[in-house]
Amino acid sequence: MHELMKVSGVLDLANVESAVPRIASKSEIETSHDPDYVSIVEAISNGAIVPGMAEFGLGTSDNPVHSGMYETTALTVGSTLTASELVTSGKADIAFAPAGGVHHHAMPRSAAGFGVFNDAVIAMTAMVEAGLRVAYIDIDCHHGDGVQMGHYDSSQVLTISIHESGKWLFPGTGYTHEIGVGDGTGYSVNVPLAPYTQDDEWHEAFDAVIPPLVRAFKPDVLFTQLGIDTHYQDPLTHLSLTTQGFNLVVQKLGVLASEIGKWIAVGGGGYDLSAVARSWTMALATMANHDLPSEIPASFYSLQHLTKFADAPPERNEERFLKEIRSYNSKTLDEVRSLVFPKFRI
Ligand SMILES: [Zn+2]
Repeated sequence: MHELMKVSGVLDLANVESAVPRIASKSEIETSHDPDYVSIVEAISNGAIVPGMAEFGLGTSDNPVHSGMYETTALTVGSTLTASELVTSGKADIAFAPAGGVHHHAMPRSAAGFGVFNDAVIAMTAMVEAGLRVAYIDIDCHHGDGVQMGHYDSSQVLTISIHESGKWLFPGTGYTHEIGVGDGTGYSVNVPLAPYTQDDEWHEAFDAVIPPLVRAFKPDVLFTQLGIDTHYQDPLTHLSLTTQGFNLVVQKLGVLASEIGKWIAVGGGGYDLSAVARSWTMALATMANHDLPSEIPASFYSLQHLTKFADAPPERNEERFLKEIRSYNSKTLDEVRSLVFPKFRI
């Protein structure tokens, strides 16, 4: 990804600057995680054997332990905090921390789904403490359950996750009826979609609920998790987006961001590496308002055998499958409209 961003010239644009991330401090991590859990991650990272670590989600196939894991995760969290600070301080209108976001399943007391310390929750906690209202949009193929949990009772953070339904995919949550608790009731929104949903139907769902809710919420900051495991070649999931379908989402998020004035973007899941490199390079170019050529520079092609940023349009789903997909997705949209829209007088 970084190599493709470099050879495409995106990092050299006059309005793009690279920032060096700082490392998140332990006290910052502990704003959103139990100190016992944070200490266990630190001890394991330093080589200690901790019996019972599986209770904390550690040492599992999704969350193997390794030396130095505390420092690398703290640096990832720090990259999201650096991006947040650049935007909230007014030094930048938009900041993209592609290493962040993949921790969106991490819970206060446990690791989950490749996530150890939840950078998005930690960054948004700091923003809420500074009095800011944040709209979090998670377009990863998996439900952003850890982020939802992090601010489930708060009306200061609107979390919206659009994902492949938990009926078919990890973590098995993210249903429409999960709308928050207490003061946060109505401020958690879930848009579960049918497997094999393609660009057109995905965008239909996005357009129906996300812009109206964000506009009604009137946040101070837009925070987006840009997972690209929705890609049709992704080996772990079953949504069927193309890189150009993904980039169109980034363009739509950019329109919302321009109305709000502050946009922090992080990465997320993505297990087809060609899709990751191309999509996040396209995303950065979109954020910089720069038109990429359609061809990938030859110097990158020689390394990765890629020729174009966009995918060849995939075959459309057969009519009978499309009917099932549309019926599942429209039920989701009806439920979101009836459960959440009244709260925002939409
Ligand atoms: Zn994911």
